[in-house]
Amino acid sequence: MASASASATTSTSTGTQRPIVILGAGVIGLTTAVQLLESEFYQSTRPPVHIVTDHLPNDPLDAKYASTIAGAHHLSFADDNDERQRRWDRKSPLDDRLTESRTAFLIMYEEWRKLGESSGLMALKQTEMFVGETKHLEIYEEHPDFTVIEESQRPKYVDHAVSFTSLTMTPLVYLNRLLTRINALSEHQVFIHRHHLSSLSALSHPSSQAIIGDRPPSAVIVCTGIGALTLGGVEDQTVVPARGQVIKVRAPWIRSGYTRQVGSLTGSEGGERTYVIPRPDGEVILGGTREIGDWFPYPREETSQDILRRVLEICPDLCPKHKIAPPLVQAQNQMEKPITGHPLDRDEGTAISPLQSLVVQTLVGFRPSRELGTRLERGPDLELEEGIQTAVIYNYGHGGAGWQSCWGTAEDAVDLLLQAI
Ligand SMILES: Cc1cc2nc3c(=O)[nH]c(=O)nc-3n(C[C@H](O)[C@H](O)[C@H](O)COP(=O)(O)OP(=O)(O)OC[C@H]3O[C@@H](n4cnc5c(N)ncnc54)[C@H](O)[C@@H]3O)c2cc1C
Repeated sequence: MASASASATTSTSTGTQRPIVILGAGVIGLTTAVQLLESEFYQSTRPPVHIVTDHLPNDPLDAKYASTIAGAHHLSFADDNDERQRRWDRKSPLDDRLTESRTAFLIMYEEWRKLGESSGLMALKQTEMFVGETKHLEIYEEHPDFTVIEESQRPKYVDHAVSFTSLTMTPLVYLNRLLTRINALSEHQVFIHRHHLSSLSALSHPSSQAIIGDRPPSAVIVCTGIGALTLGGVEDQTVVPARGQVIKVRAPWIRSGYTRQVGSLTGSEGGERTYVIPRPDGEVILGGTREIGDWFPYPREETSQDILRRVLEICPDLCPKHKIAPPLVQAQNQMEKPITGHPLDRDEGTAISPLQSLVVQTLVGFRPSRELGTRLERGPDLELEEGIQTAVIYNYGHGGAGWQSCWGTAEDAVDLLLQAI
């Protein structure tokens, strides 16, 4: 029998109940699936659930599959007056509300407390620095250990800085844990199909019926990220890629996170952002960029050098003298001019970053951004068979916040689904 852990299946459901389809297997599709499977509705009625997707977590990296490229850390962008986003991202005090309020930080923080770093999560001290701003987002004050860093303790060019406890995620570990949970909650009865859906109406095509069965689904939840731009029946022209280039280095001595925001966030992710995101396995993600509408799927060398320069400004510990092997030769003049001394002591014009010897991989991904922010609502029903309605729920367009808001949006998406059916 095919199951959630399989990479692709061709099984069909044979029961009499109408299936529920989740489109997409990024962090949004998979957390939505877990949320549905944990619901009383699912546990008491056990309808067939199908996840239909182009990409799966263990696939080779692809810029169009944002969830496996992401940094990722929990660092909200929610404006002080954006109650919706704050609710999705929020961490409440660790009290009774914890069990009632399923939001990203709370759920992930509890997972980390129970499972430690095998959860794919790492709790750490996060320092957020601001240049050209003297104010932080209010939501940071809700994190444990929140502190405003005094002027004497911060770099001179930094206008304001705060620190608090936050989380980083190792996407592959976390996504695979979600697949395991889907298997366990459904007793291997959720089917995951590698299948490109050209349009929502194609759910009634024979190629789709071959995998989800010939009964029209009672509901479809659209968790297609950037795919919402081209998926027929959705074709949301306000969805746009926010290209992000990041560099993975091996630096296990870094156990704290750093971010520098230059200029205003302007409601989401404006200005220039530089970040250092350590992971439990000793790898550290360095970033970043945010290039709106840029579909170039490969790394740009000049961007990499710029990132390596910027991260050293906010985290010089990346380059302690005894940890870095200087490159044997200078880039322009290989074999002739051996480099001596510590890399940080070199001239400004040195072509190779002192961090180069730590680089494991450079990645590019497209954040699924959307002009009006995440789309979380019920759309018009589909009529895949005459007189039979299929409810459509949208849960896409999370931009650079999909990891931190996934549990909050999954809860809202499943609430909408339960109201609809
Ligand atoms: C460089 C970078 C850094 C980031 N850092 C952070 C961070 O620190 N914190 C944070 O919270 N977020 C971060 N993000 C953002 C986060 O990764 C995204 O918001 C999140 O992954 C979106 O998840 P998703 O499931 O909606 O999309 P995706 O992960 O892109 O998944 C979309 C799914 O839909 C499927 N699909 C699409 N169209 C179709 C179709 N027609 N038929 C079948 N299947 C389809 C795809 O195959 C895929 O399975 C970052 C992103 C990038 C690129």
